Amino acid sequence: MRKRNGISRVISGNWRPSETRRQGATNETAMLYPIVKYGAEVLTRPATRVTKFDADFETLCADMFESMYAAQGVGLAAPQIGKSVRLAVIDVTVGKNPEAKLVLVNPEIIHAEGEHRDEEGCLSVPGFRGAVIRPQFVTVRAQNAKGETYEMRGEGLLGRAFCHEIDHLNGVLFIQHLSLIKRDLIKRKIRKLSKRGEW
Ligand SMILES: [Zn+2]
Repeated sequence: MRKRNGISRVISGNWRPSETRRQGATNETAMLYPIVKYGAEVLTRPATRVTKFDADFETLCADMFESMYAAQGVGLAAPQIGKSVRLAVIDVTVGKNPEAKLVLVNPEIIHAEGEHRDEEGCLSVPGFRGAVIRPQFVTVRAQNAKGETYEMRGEGLLGRAFCHEIDHLNGVLFIQHLSLIKRDLIKRKIRKLSKRGEW
């Protein structure tokens, strides 16, 4: 999920996706993955369950955080880096509080209540936002990077991030929750950007 303010646009202008290991990241050996955008097939299909929790998987989780921070996001799902597996990372503090880092593997919503309408954006749909109604409180059951199961209750932005990222794992983007008019407007603008080679 995309951070609320406009900083992301400035950062992404200077940020070049790199397949090489980056110097100076929080994790010295982090790999930054390019984030795939709306129109990519991988964003439209349900991802497969994670069954192997090895060192490579832990590295992938760490790289997901670095890729998310580089793009100034508060959440990133594996399909957004082209990997169709049920993994997402969330940090609603955008790196300010290490304890807020959450790895969600094979997550599912086990309880939801209330309603909360707020603006939402997505790293895969950069430059566009829209109001989406989500539950006010959301409880997820997921596994961490080591495969241990945990449950967590999130309110407001965190609960919204749970829903947004789990949607990604099911091939759903936030624009699918918008009104038909708003969604078509965004799609038309993206088509124009694509024609100009700016998407
Ligand atoms: Zn998203």
